[in-house]
Amino acid sequence: MTDPSGCASPESALSVAQARDILLSAITPVDGWETVPIRSALGRVLMRDVVAPFDVPAHDNSAMDGFAVRAADMTAAENRLAVVGTALAGGAFSGVVGPGQAVRVMTGAVLPRGADSVVVQEAARMDGEAVLLPALQRPGQHVRRAGEDLAAGKPALRAGKRIGPAELGLLASLGFAEVAVRRRPRIAFFSTGDELASIGRPLAPGEVYDSNRYTLYGVLSRLGVDILDMGVVRDEPAEMEKAFAEAAREADAILTTGGVSVGEADFVKDIMARLGEVRFWKIDIKPGRPMAFGRLGDAWLFGLPGNPVAVMVNYYQIVQDALVKLQGVDPLPPRPVFKALAAEAIRKVTGRREFPRGVLFQEGGQWQVRLSGNQGSGVLRSMVEANCFIVLPETSASVAAGDWVDVQPFDGVV
Ligand code: AMP
Ligand code: MG
Repeated sequence: MTDPSGCASPESALSVAQARDILLSAITPVDGWETVPIRSALGRVLMRDVVAPFDVPAHDNSAMDGFAVRAADMTAAENRLAVVGTALAGGAFSGVVGPGQAVRVMTGAVLPRGADSVVVQEAARMDGEAVLLPALQRPGQHVRRAGEDLAAGKPALRAGKRIGPAELGLLASLGFAEVAVRRRPRIAFFSTGDELASIGRPLAPGEVYDSNRYTLYGVLSRLGVDILDMGVVRDEPAEMEKAFAEAAREADAILTTGGVSVGEADFVKDIMARLGEVRFWKIDIKPGRPMAFGRLGDAWLFGLPGNPVAVMVNYYQIVQDALVKLQGVDPLPPRPVFKALAAEAIRKVTGRREFPRGVLFQEGGQWQVRLSGNQGSGVLRSMVEANCFIVLPETSASVAAGDWVDVQPFDGVV
């Protein structure tokens, strides 16, 4: 943290963009890396550039089934060439294609020496040992050049890239059995609140089951971090202090829920502020307005609000990219946002960024979006029924049916 005071600054109001910027500029990737077999690298983040050890493809080769020819022989409307051999993928033609000659080639076969172009099978007519071929459209056609995918000595993948299916394939195409990936960050999380009961026992009057730990378990597991679930912590100073201290010792980052709202019995905030360097924010966002961010020992602290939907919105819209940066991903991938027609009116006040949950559907060839029912910040059903966030910026007021709105599909986000 850059706040030199070492104690809590007064509550301040921030835009979503400002809050994200503060998080992203504070956080740096975790130290440490390991070498893993490439299958185990799925979802991990590359520690170093991966340099191609050889050209891919390694040789000029045919992109089609057909005949390898010399462009110089192919100028007449119809050209009669002697077929002198065959080149298969994995079975090269050992000779040289001379003037007036052609070699039958299969897709992926090394282009025979002497030839520079390929004529597709469908354009050829056999005539005994010879073949009749039309004039070339383009010298060099249907040939994949050596190194056109990846050139030897050049980075094929950059450090900071998250490894997905395509990256796994590319690593394999370069012959790598192992790859260096950054250590997975360790993230501790717990719920705060005297009213919370853990699942597995009956509810006492006034209690609610702790759901936040399960949504956080879900989002963090998908993110691919190591998780440390610390359970429910009572609104009780000694217990809470112990939990924060343990989390700070064990983890790179701590996520808590509850206890940061205005009007909350303030000791959660007091303890956070006392144990580290923590700021309390009011963010111009709905839902998810209160949030704490700071440093406890060597760990980052993200204090999320308590209401279950507020937790998810605040996490996805503000915190997640900071954790992605902690994982070492660089640059952060953009989040796609699309335009859709509002199928119903949506109430909104200006001055804050709102993320109602929506159902994106297609009607009349047009993507439209409606609200996913009751939008209360405690109504998880609004997330369950939804397939997107509707993104209503600070400047927008209420939306009328038929207006264009931005939507952020959950696919790829949650
Ligand atoms: P708080 O931010 O602690 O004032 O909590 C706001 C609301 O969210 C209250 O109604 C809490 O009961 C509820 N809440 C807080 N934590 C959880 C949790 N872990 N699971 C379900 N509801 C919660
Ligand atoms: Mg509470």
